[in-house]
Amino acid sequence: MNTLHQKKAGRRRRLKKQYLVLLLLVLFGIGFFVGKSYSAGELLSASEGSSTVSEAAEQPEKPPRTAEEAEKTEEPSAVPEAVDRPGESAPTSDEPPITETGKTEPIAEEQSPKKVVYITFDDGPSKWTGQFLDVLQAHGVNATFFMQGSNLKKENLQENVRRAVQEGHYVGGHSITHNFRTLYTDKQFVPEMIATLDMIHDITGSTPHLVRPPYGSAPGLKDEQVREQLTNAHIKVWDWTIDSQDWKLAGNPSQIVRNIKQGTTSDREIVLMHEKPQTLKVLPEILQFFKDQGYEFRVYEEADHFMLNFQNDSRL
Ligand SMILES: [Zn+2]
Repeated sequence: MNTLHQKKAGRRRRLKKQYLVLLLLVLFGIGFFVGKSYSAGELLSASEGSSTVSEAAEQPEKPPRTAEEAEKTEEPSAVPEAVDRPGESAPTSDEPPITETGKTEPIAEEQSPKKVVYITFDDGPSKWTGQFLDVLQAHGVNATFFMQGSNLKKENLQENVRRAVQEGHYVGGHSITHNFRTLYTDKQFVPEMIATLDMIHDITGSTPHLVRPPYGSAPGLKDEQVREQLTNAHIKVWDWTIDSQDWKLAGNPSQIVRNIKQGTTSDREIVLMHEKPQTLKVLPEILQFFKDQGYEFRVYEEADHFMLNFQNDSRL
């Protein structure tokens, strides 16, 4: 009896021990998990480095973040868009808007210049072309020339046509005959322009697509069919914003300067002049005027073409 009782007591003690061990194990286990979650929490709050834990923890924040980022990436692209149209959008680009970091820098870059002027000379090449190029070179200005076939065919004038292109000027077409009736009444405008542009290509190696209509596109190009032909031939047409009237002011060159000063009203001006001695005489004064007014000189570039024709035909 005694031994049986003792055996039972011994079993109970062993069971108690096992319970204790189990309890300890459970407590230890809880302690382990709690400790682990603390250390994970520390990892989250540190959230530096590229551990998968911190990435997972940031995910709920990500949608607002990416929206913010999207806003930020949109801004730089919106800036050049505004500056692409200096004439039309100058007021908005003038706004002293955004002082946040990262925004000011691209704007400041694209913002200047606010005012641009294109100097253009018609009816060349002439015996004065070289002197025009000398004055432009001395002032560091590139200009846009519109030359006519009847002069381009003179071999003694061709060297300066090449020089103009080599020195960064643009040489476009101005017809072969310059004759109003032939060009507009007899509708030889497009064939003459194609022939002129081909001549310029043969002389200089350049491939221009821009022409200036003699006497302007109004009324010359009011014929829709002719403008359609131009479009099909990929020819662009430029008129002007300021008419210097220089061709008829041989005896009064200072009036050329006054005409230009009076005509200067917008942030983008295209000045019509001709290769005439009276124009050559006052050219330094004209260039200085635009410099003083804060204009930057630009030369026509086909990649940056904008519509400038009195017919308001957006295809030209
Ligand atoms: Zn002309």
